[in-house]
Amino acid sequence: MADAGKDALYQQRIAIYPRSVKGRFRNFKWAVLGLAYSVYFLLPWLRWERNVGPDQAVLFDITGRKFYVFNLVAHSQDLLWLVGFLLIAALLLFFVTGIAGRVFCGYFCFQTLWTDLYLLIERLVQGDRVARIRLDRSPWNANKLLRKAGTHILWLAVAFWTGLTFTLYWDNAPQLLVKWFTGSAPFAAYATTLFLTATTYVMAGLAREQVCTYMCPYARFQSAMFDADTRIVAYDEARGEGAQARHKINRELKSREQRRQQGVGDCIDCGFCVQVCPTGIDIRDGLQVQCISCALCIDACDAIMDSLGWERGLIRYTSETESEGRKSPVWRPKTIAYGLVLLIAIAGLVWSVSSQAPLEVAVVQVRQPLFVRLSDGRVQNSYELHLANKTDEAIELAIMMHGLAGAELDVGNFDALQLAPQHSLRVLARVRWRTKHREKGSRGFFLDVIPQQRRDIGMISAPATFYMPGGDR
Ligand code: SF4
Ligand code: SF4
Repeated sequence: MADAGKDALYQQRIAIYPRSVKGRFRNFKWAVLGLAYSVYFLLPWLRWERNVGPDQAVLFDITGRKFYVFNLVAHSQDLLWLVGFLLIAALLLFFVTGIAGRVFCGYFCFQTLWTDLYLLIERLVQGDRVARIRLDRSPWNANKLLRKAGTHILWLAVAFWTGLTFTLYWDNAPQLLVKWFTGSAPFAAYATTLFLTATTYVMAGLAREQVCTYMCPYARFQSAMFDADTRIVAYDEARGEGAQARHKINRELKSREQRRQQGVGDCIDCGFCVQVCPTGIDIRDGLQVQCISCALCIDACDAIMDSLGWERGLIRYTSETESEGRKSPVWRPKTIAYGLVLLIAIAGLVWSVSSQAPLEVAVVQVRQPLFVRLSDGRVQNSYELHLANKTDEAIELAIMMHGLAGAELDVGNFDALQLAPQHSLRVLARVRWRTKHREKGSRGFFLDVIPQQRRDIGMISAPATFYMPGGDR
């Protein structure tokens, strides 16, 4: 039998007890966390005055098929905006990764932000690294039970509020909150909240660094975006190891001069950089896939260097090129290309949003049946007219047609219809036409939607096709 430990498919998880650290990158991470949490948790409660629609600043109204984002109202027909937004997010990620490596993972990713909060709770309840290790190794007693249970209860509370907050974005937040707790909210609200509670608790509380190492696809393909000029967190091996490798501080190797004389590097092998790492790796072993570029090891090493009075930067943000003593340009063909495509995508989305038509008309041919031969000999085609009023005022519309001489248009009771503000409507339009005996195939014509008393909007002529028996379909 093969050596079980060597050939095992699954490596047993080694518990990680990240130690707290102070420093500029830690401060920046707290600032990002504070901002991200404020936005996420407070946004559903922000009220916003609109002429029409809900008074919630950000609301994704699934039943009404409208997304309200401050003054912007996106209808279901504006799905391309979502595609554009996702494209911009992906391009931004490529662009930033090309320049600064995995900074998204280290500072902005949800997994990092929530794990940071969970670690803070763990630290507040159970103590810092050494206390937590001691607690885990101690036998179960009232103190251990209380601290462990307290941690998990607080984690669950954060997970629950995270899930509930997400749900509040999809309906009027204050009303939904009351409904949720009085048992009268829709099933989807309970299911979403509980699903997100469970996933947040498992991902940030239990799985933690394993999400980044084993589950996140970005960690796998990011190497394709890296090159020799990409900024990474790296250990200065030449300085840290010297000619004779690193060494702990002792009486003979206390000052820098003593160390230099004996060929020993500046790393005093204190292990602080390893202890603070949330993924439990040793940056001195080189760039590793587990490294999320959070820079906490930089803070740790800087603190050690400060305490010794040596210059900072034994661990620092650098690039392969820079560590070889050459300059790393920020603007390289790859980053310029990402930047340009990103700018084009942003400009395209901004243009599309700012030039949103006040009235949108789309014609969909009813194909089953494509045409009907009526008893009076005429041929009838049917169309679904999709009308969307994107303004805050009602629009009265008349529907007419041109391009098919002698044809009759029947839109039922909708000859002059009132389209409510920010509303969409589907109108069934029937066109009846007495075709010439031998006429086959199809003929193009236009359905005209004419806003009444609104010259600023103007008539919209939507092209349509009239099919006749025996023609191409
Ligand atoms: S090695 Fe440093 S930068 Fe990378 S994850 Fe660990 S602490 Fe963060
Ligand atoms: S914190 Fe700095 S000095 Fe301490 S082990 Fe890490 S690299 Fe060496």
